[in-house]
Amino acid sequence: MIGGLAQHGHGKEALRVFNQMLKYGVSPNQITLVSVLCACNHAGLVTEAQKYFRSMKELFGFERTQEHYACMIDLLGRAGRLDEAMELVNTMPFQADGSVWGALLGAARIHKNVEIGQRAAEMLLILEPEKSGTHILLANIYASVGMWNNVAKMRRLMKDCNVKKEPGVSWIEVKDKIYTFIAGDRSHVRSEEIYAKLDELSERLGKAGYIPKVEFDLHDVERDEKEKLLYHHSEKLAVAFGLIATPAGAPIRVKKNLRVCMDCHTAFKFISKIVSREIILRDINRYHHFKDGSCSCGDYW
Ligand SMILES: [Zn+2]
Ligand SMILES: [Zn+2]
Repeated sequence: MIGGLAQHGHGKEALRVFNQMLKYGVSPNQITLVSVLCACNHAGLVTEAQKYFRSMKELFGFERTQEHYACMIDLLGRAGRLDEAMELVNTMPFQADGSVWGALLGAARIHKNVEIGQRAAEMLLILEPEKSGTHILLANIYASVGMWNNVAKMRRLMKDCNVKKEPGVSWIEVKDKIYTFIAGDRSHVRSEEIYAKLDELSERLGKAGYIPKVEFDLHDVERDEKEKLLYHHSEKLAVAFGLIATPAGAPIRVKKNLRVCMDCHTAFKFISKIVSREIILRDINRYHHFKDGSCSCGDYW
């Protein structure tokens, strides 16, 4: 239960269940504490997590495992406390593995930290050379701070190493049928309506104060062009289709094979409010429940 609640962004609720468990005298084990830290992570509860992490031995009688460290490093990184996260990597009694460096790379991308991003990517390329995401994330960091020469270098490297970007795919179920979308998809029979819906939304979003997050786009093209590319991401197409194909007020459930991008995440917060619909998006890491202008993940994901 604690793990499930954490995954859906109900961090506080997960901690409430955990406290209830303690009250009833059920002893937690190391795995329980991984879920508890995960709950804190998804809800951005840094202080809470630190309390459990620091005094795990005194409170529950067991040593911290590699998973606990990994969770804590991830949590600090997401909260923007990258130096503390790095400090933990350097002092922990374990060798940092791919998941730890992956978490740091993700955090470096969110917080545009080139130095830590480079270090994490370096380690990942040694530990998990077969993974394609590393080059892309590092290129994303370079793009976000306008280091286009380095972006170009990464692209060349990816081409030389034959690294292919896994295409983003989103899908939505409407009346027992599954509809799949890729970025810029025009193969759907209602394609015209979908794009018209996106145009309409784009106008209303602009009025509501949404600004496309073009700095995370890798293409070295003009801002106008970037905005267009962002608007046609697979998850936006799926949501737009959900809007025209389901009755007003019904929640929209979309799934995506990769992590949801920063721009779509922001856009969906606005859309949930503008059209008064709940949007539930399951990406590769977790569930996002967008409602009334905010997301259940509290922007930590
Ligand atoms: Zn997107
Ligand atoms: Zn979210």
